[in-house]
Amino acid sequence: MITKCDVVIVGGGPSGGYISYNLANDGFKVCLVDSNPLDRLGFKACGGISSSYILNYFKKIGLDNEEIIDYSFDNVDIVDTKLNRLANIKVDLIHINRRNLGKHLSTILLDKGVNILSNTRAVRLIVKEDEVHGVKLSNGDEIESILVIDASGFNGLLRQQMIKYVPFWNISRDDLIIAIMEQLQGPQPFKTFTLTIDRGLIPGGYGWLTPGKNNSTVGLGIKLGIKHLSLRYRLSLLKRIMLAQGENKGAFIGLIYARRPFPTLVYNGYALVGEAGSQGNPLFGGGILGALIGSDIAFKAIRKSLESHSSEKPLLIDSLWRYNFEFMHRRGKFLATLDALRMFAQSLTDEEMKEFISYLPSKLTFDLKDIVKISVKAIKMISRSRIFWRIFDMYRASLEIQRLYSKYPKRPQDFQEWVSKDLEIFESLKKKLMK
Ligand SMILES: Cc1cc2nc3c(=O)[nH]c(=O)nc-3n(C[C@H](O)[C@H](O)[C@H](O)COP(=O)(O)OP(=O)(O)OC[C@H]3O[C@@H](n4cnc5c(N)ncnc54)[C@H](O)[C@@H]3O)c2cc1C
Repeated sequence: MITKCDVVIVGGGPSGGYISYNLANDGFKVCLVDSNPLDRLGFKACGGISSSYILNYFKKIGLDNEEIIDYSFDNVDIVDTKLNRLANIKVDLIHINRRNLGKHLSTILLDKGVNILSNTRAVRLIVKEDEVHGVKLSNGDEIESILVIDASGFNGLLRQQMIKYVPFWNISRDDLIIAIMEQLQGPQPFKTFTLTIDRGLIPGGYGWLTPGKNNSTVGLGIKLGIKHLSLRYRLSLLKRIMLAQGENKGAFIGLIYARRPFPTLVYNGYALVGEAGSQGNPLFGGGILGALIGSDIAFKAIRKSLESHSSEKPLLIDSLWRYNFEFMHRRGKFLATLDALRMFAQSLTDEEMKEFISYLPSKLTFDLKDIVKISVKAIKMISRSRIFWRIFDMYRASLEIQRLYSKYPKRPQDFQEWVSKDLEIFESLKKKLMK
């Protein structure tokens, strides 16, 4: 069977759900394909921690149900493996219940008239003469569309099929974090969201404990491909360190993109949003808020492209480019700066990391100006040690990044030159940090 719609969205997680709602609300015919059953739309194993700022996005699509939030925290503790406190940062966080999020999201999407194809996988893009015309589904059906929005998260099955057209959509193993988490029943000795770092146990990442009244989560994320200790063994050690207690209600393993957004997010008839476009936070790994911010920018830009499109043919790259332009100016600049900070953090020893953490402000807003302030403060205070030069290199790179992202090209014709500079800045920083 062949179905026709204006836009087909693959993936009913936060990014796919958000953009489906908004496009349907504006009168476009939207099909949403998700491999999960309807009452668990977009559900995935996820730590569920986010800045409370995310509530603004939930409200915009009528998602203000109390069941979506399990609990909230107003500060984060960062501890070492002996549980000495390295920093305490004031920041408003909530824990999102992904199961309930999916349940409520599916109800409001059906109300808006979105055609949801649950329990269905998109297996192939329909590509004709370098234009995407729709998707083929696991049940053999096809959907034809003006635009396919890939919101399928980290798995990248569809994006892989486009790499011959856009080689930048290949993801390197260096840019992946593998995360394991366990749900525990009952309370924990810690009162607030707690992070820990240790190069030996958690190389290139961090461990976390999210205490709740009835349910808690403990987990860690490390760079992909680290051998010696198994992931499960590392988690059992972390649980011991964090004094985690309670019956294990299930463990999950998943991949997280830890890199800046792809330098372009569009092709003829095709656009990436959310984690599929690497729009999450490269430093902390959190991606739900990033997925919604990306989806909001995508919606506003793509709506304009759809409104000025009068045929049934795919939306071409020239018309979709405004999404790239808007995204890189408003969000890409910040995420790319965090990517430089991630590379810097991964190059530090435990002692250097502790020193750096001691420069964090007591209140964090995740604004670009905060990141720059931290770097300047650290540069002023640290003596001329190895870390001084690392911070200096990272700071210099972050200024170059901001300049470059402010000049993201208005037209695809000027993209090659821009992307070469982007690669150059990050390659050069990597080399300096590896010294
Ligand atoms: C262990 C772990 C812990 C995490 N903890 C946090 C955290 O604490 N806070 C935070 O903010 N982020 C966290 N993240 C990251 C976060 O889960 C993602 O960044 C976020 O869910 C991205 O949203 P999305 O809508 O882009 O994609 P997703 O939420 O991944 O949704 C994609 C959807 O697409 C579906 N899908 C995939 N392929 C297909 C296909 N071919 N056909 C049909 N459907 C398909 C999937 O089933 C899924 O429903 C964590 C990730 C992991 C792995």
